[in-house]
Amino acid sequence: MAKKILLLPGDGIGPEVTAVSRRLIDFLATEGIVELQVDEAPFGGAAYDLHGAPITAATIETALQSDAVLMGAVGGPQWSGLAYDLRPEAGLLKLREAMDVYANLRPAFCFNALAGLSSLKTELIAGLDILFVRELVGGVYFGQPRGIETLPNGEKRGLNTHSYTSSEIRRVARVAFDIARTRGNRVCSVEKGNVMEAGLLWREVVTELHAEEYADVELSHMLADNCAMQLVRAPQQFDVILTDNLFGDILSDIASMLTGSIGMLPSAAIGKPGAPGLYEPIHGSAPDIAGKGIANPCASVLSLAMAMRYSLERPDIAIAIEQAVGAILTDGQLTADLGGSASTQDIADTLLEALGREL
Ligand code: ATP
Ligand code: MG
Repeated sequence: MAKKILLLPGDGIGPEVTAVSRRLIDFLATEGIVELQVDEAPFGGAAYDLHGAPITAATIETALQSDAVLMGAVGGPQWSGLAYDLRPEAGLLKLREAMDVYANLRPAFCFNALAGLSSLKTELIAGLDILFVRELVGGVYFGQPRGIETLPNGEKRGLNTHSYTSSEIRRVARVAFDIARTRGNRVCSVEKGNVMEAGLLWREVVTELHAEEYADVELSHMLADNCAMQLVRAPQQFDVILTDNLFGDILSDIASMLTGSIGMLPSAAIGKPGAPGLYEPIHGSAPDIAGKGIANPCASVLSLAMAMRYSLERPDIAIAIEQAVGAILTDGQLTADLGGSASTQDIADTLLEALGREL
């Protein structure tokens, strides 16, 4: 049966980079390589301009009935003055919540072609291939009680609660172990159980699940501060890093700087097995370069590859797309963020040819 994919191009460079993924999707579908049914809907500021809301109930319904949702990016200065509920970003949070995507997959992967590039500011690590599995809907960002209160002595107090239940930990740990089996078979679970109770429980639950169902996967534990240091010192030691919402936010940003440009990095947010996943570049709508035709579409295309791997049951196509990206980088087809002069369109054309050769 044909798999359903919903495209939400969004705002700024979102439509420009999503159009490149759409070309690959249309190619795969018309050549009969993947059976795909494609839908597209306005999202974010574009939806607000059309419907007066950043996401409609109909779009949420379509998303829930899809196998994968591929998003561009949302937001821009023209919508930043709106009431919170009407803002593009509120539409994205609403979609994540409706889809109940609790595991955020963020690869830190360095293409060999980029490792030697002198046009990039940071020193990249050849062969780096880490996958973060970050808990996305719990922890200190969501824990109750939270707020700012005035104490009896007149002083103010800001309060957040770091809280995890064993089932919240278990379901995201399961995602990490399952994915580890498809790659290096190693999971490093990261918390700060030495000083935090939720971290202590985290380690306990992960250890228990590992013993019960995933003893074939190599499991290690690391404190978050040490992990930050190890990521900079010797990042090649990691395969899958499983961690909570807060630490995952910070640690995956550190690692992303070892891999090149923000225009290269994809992400996935997945929920219950069989439920649709939400795939998007980690970059934003980049209003400063929108409409210029110079955005790097690789993050969107690599997000499509992740959708093929985790939601559309076509890991072979995921590999072909990733190899096609590697091939054009090796050929020196680089957008401005990588120090080159190729346009988004140039990348689309050469990527399509390269994908044709990979299949
Ligand atoms: P958001 O809050 O939506 O995440 P942001 O403030 O983090 O947005 P981005 O939109 O990600 O910012 O842009 C950050 C910088 O990176 C900008 O200078 C932008 O032009 C650049 N950038 C982002 N994505 C790309 C891309 N795909 N290709 C080239 N440059 C990009
Ligand atoms: Mg950002």
